[in-house]
Amino acid sequence: MSHLFYQSKSPRPFLERGEGIYMYDVNGRRYLDGSSGAMVSNIGHSNPAVLAAMRAQMDKSTFGYRLHFQTEASEALATKTAELSPRGLDRVFFVSGGSEAVESALKMARQYKLAIGQGSRFKVISRMPSYHGSTLGALAVTGYDPLTVPFAPMMHEMPKIPAPRAYLDGLDINDPATGLHYANMLEQKIIEEGPETVLAFILEPVGGASTGALVPPAGYMQRIREICDAYDILLIHDEVMSGGGRTGKFWGADHWGTVPDIISISKGFGGGYVPLGAMIARGDMVEAVLETGGFQHGHTYAGNPLACAAGLALIGEIESNNLIANAACMGDLLKARLKGLMNRYPFIGDVRGKGLLLAFELVSDRVTMEPLAAGLSAYQRLVDIAYDEGLIIYSRRTRGGLNGDHFLVCPPMIIGEDGIEEIMQGLTRALDKFAAEAGLDVDS
Ligand code: PMP
Repeated sequence: MSHLFYQSKSPRPFLERGEGIYMYDVNGRRYLDGSSGAMVSNIGHSNPAVLAAMRAQMDKSTFGYRLHFQTEASEALATKTAELSPRGLDRVFFVSGGSEAVESALKMARQYKLAIGQGSRFKVISRMPSYHGSTLGALAVTGYDPLTVPFAPMMHEMPKIPAPRAYLDGLDINDPATGLHYANMLEQKIIEEGPETVLAFILEPVGGASTGALVPPAGYMQRIREICDAYDILLIHDEVMSGGGRTGKFWGADHWGTVPDIISISKGFGGGYVPLGAMIARGDMVEAVLETGGFQHGHTYAGNPLACAAGLALIGEIESNNLIANAACMGDLLKARLKGLMNRYPFIGDVRGKGLLLAFELVSDRVTMEPLAAGLSAYQRLVDIAYDEGLIIYSRRTRGGLNGDHFLVCPPMIIGEDGIEEIMQGLTRALDKFAAEAGLDVDS
């Protein structure tokens, strides 16, 4: 018996090592990391430059408590992060993961509004479905019942609006009327709640695990910004998954050019080398908070030099190897190939995403978008079958009148055409086996 307990659905072998886009278990089996873990290992495994930077930092110091020392590594990473951030967002607060980055964003928003005399504002509107983290504050803005319901009495209930899942509502994602339709739901909700009580709106610019790489419809992001401005509500972009280049731009929201007030980032920021995340806020907001006695928030390991040295080297690798351009280009290729699978598998209802943040969704009927029968446990079975075929993908099932089983295909940004071909071969074998097992039709 293992003394560790996670939510592991089926036992997995011990990991030996990772290299590039591959991982190897202790039995010598090779797996293509088609989901970069949980959309984390953006520059692949065992990058020599990142490892060298970590070794060099380890020889100097691995920890200096942030209230006792500044460190060159954290200063340098903060400067670089600010340079990469949209205009006006130039103050950086380091943390050790995505939930911490979101908690920090929520608390920064609240403390800023308190600092400027708007203490009546505390509600954070978010979307259903969405995922913003597992700590109680981040969970309160998460729209995913299986995770939130058990803890409901321990959280303040936060208002939700539907995520813009145009493909389920039969609306055209390219029609600006679609964007307006969903974005205006935010305005309705603000009015319903009382604008003077609303603090912020949080969204994932390109959706993550909860929506399966949901891309906002035309005009949506711009209209959301307008509404937030009109009601003096802060806009938080949760770029924990979409930030860092995976979508083919450094920030997911760069595809629409909209600028939030606060950003959270994590997964690809530490890239699987170190636990690292950040909350980035507008300079004037931070100044207002500092003037009222400081930001009442912090985590012990935040800003530790080892994590920051790794994070800085990781951004260096992304830049020197043009990995964001590669993510855009390989993402287009992979998306086209995934769309091609729809000819063979009538039970693939949708393929979506940006860059290498891609997903496909399985349905029992492509016209009605009815999900597959829950008893098939597709989200679990297909992942297990693919794993046996040496391909790692990531899945979620969102039920309760929401959507069905979706699968994220998000390989590291270093992937080339050969890697894409290998993913497609593994996926085709896995889908064939799954279809045979589930009794689903395949067109040959
Ligand atoms: N926000 C988003 C958009 C995420 O995808 C995640 C992780 N899946 C989180 C927050 C929470 O990050 P972590 O698991 O590192 O706490």
